[in-house]
Amino acid sequence: KEIVMQWRRSNMQSLESLTKVMRENLRACGYPIVLSRPFDKRTPSHQCGTVKMGNDPATSPLDPFCRAYDHRNLFVVDGGFLPTSAAVNPALSIA
Ligand SMILES: Cc1cc2nc3c(=O)[nH]c(=O)nc-3n(C[C@H](O)[C@H](O)[C@H](O)COP(=O)(O)OP(=O)(O)OC[C@H]3O[C@@H](n4cnc5c(N)ncnc54)[C@H](O)[C@@H]3O)c2cc1C
Repeated sequence: KEIVMQWRRSNMQSLESLTKVMRENLRACGYPIVLSRPFDKRTPSHQCGTVKMGNDPATSPLDPFCRAYDHRNLFVVDGGFLPTSAAVNPALSIA
């Protein structure tokens, strides 16, 4: 079986706003040239939410304790439990 990655950009507006502020701040600090380039599909390092948790079994396979609604002896304890990717480093939240 092949793993298929369904990848789409989200919260790009926030990224653009943050990049703009950072560019202005760095220029104000004296850096004349500020370059930035967003990661793309080749850098999928923060995959999260593939088995998300939530209060409603109709929309979430896991309850808020990471326990499967339909298999009560199954707990998912990796990054899959997160409801979605926060688009920031997730390791601490996962731990
Ligand atoms: C290049 C890179 C840089 C990153 N930098 C950061 C960072 O700076 N800060 C941050 O917070 N996050 C960072 N991340 C993200 C973070 O590493 C992951 O989100 C986190 O490790 C995910 O944890 P996990 O437990 O879900 O999966 P993983 O850490 O991938 O653990 C899954 C484990 O399951 C094992 N496994 C897989 N299949 C099987 C099987 N069939 N049987 C037995 N074992 C199996 C694997 O060997 C692996 O040990 C980075 C990720 C990458 C790729």
